[in-house]
Amino acid sequence: MKSISILGSTGSIGTNALRVIDAFPDAFCAVGLAGGRNIADLASQVQAVRPVIVSCWDRESADDLQALLRSRGHDTEGTRFVHGREGNIEVACHPAADMVLSAISGAAGLVPTHSALEAGKSIALANKETLVMAGRLMMDRARQKGVEILPVDSEHNAIHQCLRGGRRREVRRLILTASGGPFLKTPRDQMPSVTPGQALNHPTWNMGRKITIDSATLMNKGLEVIEASWLFGVPPEEIEVTVHPQSIVHSMVEFVDGSILAHLGLTDMRLAIQYALSYPERWNSPLPSLDISKLGRLEFEKPDREKFRCLNLAYAALAQGGTAPAALNAANEVAVDLFLNDAIGFHRIPEVIESVLASHAGGRDDSLESILEADAWGRREAQRLSRGARPKRD
Ligand code: NDP
Repeated sequence: MKSISILGSTGSIGTNALRVIDAFPDAFCAVGLAGGRNIADLASQVQAVRPVIVSCWDRESADDLQALLRSRGHDTEGTRFVHGREGNIEVACHPAADMVLSAISGAAGLVPTHSALEAGKSIALANKETLVMAGRLMMDRARQKGVEILPVDSEHNAIHQCLRGGRRREVRRLILTASGGPFLKTPRDQMPSVTPGQALNHPTWNMGRKITIDSATLMNKGLEVIEASWLFGVPPEEIEVTVHPQSIVHSMVEFVDGSILAHLGLTDMRLAIQYALSYPERWNSPLPSLDISKLGRLEFEKPDREKFRCLNLAYAALAQGGTAPAALNAANEVAVDLFLNDAIGFHRIPEVIESVLASHAGGRDDSLESILEADAWGRREAQRLSRGARPKRD
């Protein structure tokens, strides 16, 4: 039996992870849950899985959660209620957990995931921001601790699977696929007037709000390039991005003899989650098989890097190294949030990030303190640069 703590249990990945755990009751159990503000769903999860520890946003929401559970007649004995950043850490490090699924959205996922690693837990990693901000630190510590980081992000999960077909020194390049998002065919001059509602309408994947906007700007792919570089030890020049609107090929690996191994699958995150939780074994999935004969065409094209400038910005931050990716990530989170709140236009997202990167003085990426410092600086700088920039729409 593998005991799992889920960070971000009320989110898109978290709820899918609970469905996977539920499908294998003899193999998995959820012992820790950490959610944010969605108390109603968290309460239902506590009722269903009876975790030994549960964390939520703050003290008030922890009180509300307990009151709600009592009002539903749920006996809370045996569950410890914690909250906030310390609560996330407690869930991540709880002795009852063998593995931690890291699926909080954004930079808030870094500290608890790092703590889980320090506590020797194996990590199923959905929170890509952890490796974007602290790739060197996390991979070094994982090696020192002998802890495995298994990717849940579908592209990295696909590459992890393809890499089982050859040796690391035989790899020529990684090819990450991108759906292209909702604006793949939108003319460039119309980009400034796109709305949050349009950007949240992803053509192939159903995900949380922040990653959905990142998919629309292609920053998601940029963050994934950084994540892949650290996870698989491959330099940026050996990582290519191709736009594949059908999202059936989840990524590919080209080996030195020119052979390309690709991973195909349904657009359902339960595939990647189950792989990470059951690794190194493969188990029967309750999901239907992919009907290859119904696929029709699979298309691939080069991304338009002028229209989607975030991709180049991520490559640039990776090349710059140090704390540049942490600053990029912070600026992106602020800009996405402002866009979602209609405070800046869509086209301003790369502009804000570019300006933040240009003024970043750099820093060392081998300590959590300096990475968190760069994150805080990047947020302040992005806020400052965005002031008075309300979107103009016709
Ligand atoms: P969601 O927005 O759907 O969920 C985020 C989760 O994190 C929610 O449970 C939310 O709680 C919780 N949360 C947010 N902030 C905090 C905090 N400070 N402390 C504790 N919990 C917090 O995101 P997704 O599930 O879509 O994405 C999660 C991560 O996985 C991201 O890093 C994303 O990039 C990555 N990922 C997601 C994929 C997907 O298909 N969704 C695919 C690949 C990677 P609440 O809702 O209760 O406030």
